[in-house]
Order: sequence, then structure tokens, then C-alpha cells
Amino acid sequence: MDLCDRREIKALLDRHGFRFSKSMGQNFLIAPWVPQETAAESGAVPGVGVLEIGPGIGPLTQQLAQRGEKVVAVELDRSLLPVLEETLAGLDNVTVVPGDILKLDLEALCREQFPDMPVVVCANLPYNITTPVITALLESRCFQAVTVMIQREVAQRICAQPGTAEFGAFTLLCQFYAESTLLYDVPPDCFYPAPKVTSSVIRMEVRPTPPVEVGDPALFFRVVRAAFGQRRKTLLNALYANFGQQLEKEALREALLACDLTENIRGERLGFEGFAELSRKIGQILESGKKPLA
Ligand code: SAH
Repeated sequence: MDLCDRREIKALLDRHGFRFSKSMGQNFLIAPWVPQETAAESGAVPGVGVLEIGPGIGPLTQQLAQRGEKVVAVELDRSLLPVLEETLAGLDNVTVVPGDILKLDLEALCREQFPDMPVVVCANLPYNITTPVITALLESRCFQAVTVMIQREVAQRICAQPGTAEFGAFTLLCQFYAESTLLYDVPPDCFYPAPKVTSSVIRMEVRPTPPVEVGDPALFFRVVRAAFGQRRKTLLNALYANFGQQLEKEALREALLACDLTENIRGERLGFEGFAELSRKIGQILESGKKPLA
């Protein structure tokens, strides 16, 4: 059956007594070019395993199964399991795993399902959990690439340039782990039901190491979160609000000056390199015990 034909989808879902759930971000693809192109861009090829999140009724799953070695599709909505059994019948390299992607141990899943294979992720993500899912996927370091459909606004944040309103802590987290490319936009009428926002497909190529040496990654992310947690403050004041227990303001001012930054610069002006340098400097100061509070 044609999984992108609106009428056939409706008949299929009616037959199974399925009801759409808003809270599970259910917008099913009805434009055949989207699952085709997305799967083609994902790196799903013979010898490579594919993790899909939220297969829905399986249009992308079918495309991935034709290209990759093995597809594991994690679906939260149990009422879709009998539907998938029907639509994926005959595809013997697909395993549907019932569950919540945010609660699964990704490392264990990959070890069990893809023991000797590189793995990529490809999905039309449920939009209400886009950022936590991408964060978990990247932090797990289990995947070579992550190709996902997300809200255009989030795609723009991931690919943002320093100094723009979209540039933020999530941009830097994604840059730390991956090199991202915005592939194309997908308008609302490609889905059933149509979402309110435009979507984009983005490909994140996972890096073997960060683009710039950041020193201690935990400290790097603490500096980033401090800077963007209080966007309206100057970087110095935002840092002081976070590091004040450990460092005097003067030490933080020196760290900024040592990085050729003025003390009233705002955090969003710094790019990845700027934050990397600053967090290395703050790390040195912390380590040298320079001007710790008594
Ligand atoms: N891939 C399909 C469906 C996308 S809609 C298509 O493109 O047509 C998002 C899908 O994610 C739905 O099937 C929804 O049930 C599922 N989902 C929502 N939250 C989830 C979660 N936490 N873990 C796994 N799947 C989830």
C-alpha cells in the first residue's frame, strides 16, 4: 500500500481504530519525496545500522529498510504497533522496539541491536522532544550521523552564526559534537495532520573530536550555560553569577581580558572558539587556585 496516500492512510488508521495524539507529536508524512530524500541523505547503506525514532505508520522506515543493513525503530505509541506490523510486513531487516526514546539506554540498545556495525540515526522527530532527543543522541556518542526532520526554527538555532538571536547554548552543544548542514525545508502540507510550523531536514555529521580543544568539556558547557542563562547581562556578570562561589569577579575579568574580550561584551558575540578559549582560561585560573575565596 502507498503509505503517503492520505486516503489509504485514513483507511488504514480507521481499520485499526487509531486516534492521533498531539502530545506525542504525531504528524505523519504524506509527501513521498520527503521519506525518500531523507533516507537517501542519512547514510543508510549496506553494512550500516539505522536507528529510527517514531516510525508512525512506517513511510520512512520502509525507505531506510531498502537502503540500510538493519533498521531499529523505537515507537512510543503502542496503538501503532499493530499498524506497523501490517505496513512493515515482509521487511525482515526491521525491528520495532516499543518504548520512549528518552528513557532508553542508547548504548545498550546499540550494543544489543547493532553489535558489529556503525550506526546512523534517521527520523521525523516528535517536535515536542526535539532538543532533549538530539542532546541524548549526540551525548551518547553511539552514532556516526544524525539526519532528522525538526521544526525549522530549531534547525536554524543549530546552524546559527555567533551574534544572531538564534545562536545559543544549544548551538554550541551541537557544534561540539557534530557538523550540521541544513538540507531542505518541508512545508506543513507534507504532513497529515498538518503542523503549524515549517519543518527542515538537517544532517549532523558527528565529529571524532570537538572542532577546537575546549579543555574540560564539563567546564566548557558550564561557561556556555552561564553565558546564555542570563542573556541580558554582560558576560562578566553572567559568569560571576555562576562562578561567584569559586572565583572573584576580578579573576573572571582577567580571564576575559586574557582572551582579548572586553568586560562588557555579551555572551552571544562569542563563537565556539571564543568560548573554548575562555573556558580553558577559566579552567587554568580555577586550577592554579588563583584568588579563590577563603
Ligand atoms: N515517522 C513518521 C511519524 C512521525 S510523527 C512519519 O514521518 O510519518 C512522530 C512519531 O514519534 C509518532 O509515531 C509518535 O508516536 C512517536 N513518538 C512520540 N514520542 C516518542 C518517544 N518519546 N519515543 C519514541 N517515539 C515517540
